[in-house]
Amino acid sequence: MSVRSPTETEQVSRDRVAEREAQDRRLKASMDKIKQKIVVLSGKGGVGKSTVTANLAVALASQDHAGRVGVLDADITGPTIPKMLGVRRLRLDVGERGMLPARGPLGIRVVSMDFLLPSDETPVIWRGPLKSMAIRQFLSEVLWGDLDFLLVDLPPGTGDEALTVMQSIPNIAGVVIVTIPSEVSQLVVKKAVTFTGQLKAPVLGIVENMSGFVCPKCGTETSIFTTGGGQKIAEEMGVPFLGKIPLDPRICEDSDTGTPFIVQHSDSPSAVAFREIVAKIMKTIEGKEAGMLTQEHATSRRDD
Ligand code: ADP
Repeated sequence: MSVRSPTETEQVSRDRVAEREAQDRRLKASMDKIKQKIVVLSGKGGVGKSTVTANLAVALASQDHAGRVGVLDADITGPTIPKMLGVRRLRLDVGERGMLPARGPLGIRVVSMDFLLPSDETPVIWRGPLKSMAIRQFLSEVLWGDLDFLLVDLPPGTGDEALTVMQSIPNIAGVVIVTIPSEVSQLVVKKAVTFTGQLKAPVLGIVENMSGFVCPKCGTETSIFTTGGGQKIAEEMGVPFLGKIPLDPRICEDSDTGTPFIVQHSDSPSAVAFREIVAKIMKTIEGKEAGMLTQEHATSRRDD
């Protein structure tokens, strides 16, 4: 084994710093082309975070933003976004200038680790730093292009991937936190709210998913995971409550077949709830933009 001299070691670390700085510049340039970056987070797994991300993307794309919405599946070890958006088995095209996202419904640009794995059985057995490196490459080397929205689907919890995304993406418009109404889920959702606050990103609000089930046969509503937990947490933590999405077996079926539920079953109570949530998110974002414009206008008038 060859041993590096102190000068060689210094040179290697200087090269690494330079490389990292160059990547930071590429990442910033790429993210600057995207108007709104929204992160979707949950305290625990299985609460419907990826389902919310996928349907949010479709809802935005169908509201005048077709071809200008991107989704980064930042769940490196458990990527499910390609399945939900019906783009499994696609590959990322690598051109001279970088990687090109796959194209999903309504031209949604999708990037996921799933596109890089040789088979369904291949696991990604990586420690935190490698996963962070992959996410930074997805943000800096992918040619996302000019987008109105980039949605980032995080793995559950507040681990390495969440930290990398929150610290790498400049000007995050806000974080959507998904929970189910149970107390077990409430316990961890508070951590997600605090995490977002500590990283100085705005919380766009909490979504309570799997909130009640209406029997299609008799119409009786059953609160499978209790109800009202999301609203309670939102009030306790002083963040907006975005709405409740009822359980609907068709959400699961559509996710499995890669069909956008919100379009396929647009009249269902869950699709209506999704659209109301999207409307609230848009209102917050547009309100913030308007506030910033007013501020800029006031500053420029003061400077005149
Ligand atoms: P997470 O990303 O939080 O791990 P997923 O979005 O993968 O969770 O959802 C877990 C499973 O629950 C999926 O099979 C999905 O289709 C299903 N699901 C999510 N939300 C609902 C809902 N409101 N009604 C019925 N099934 C749902």
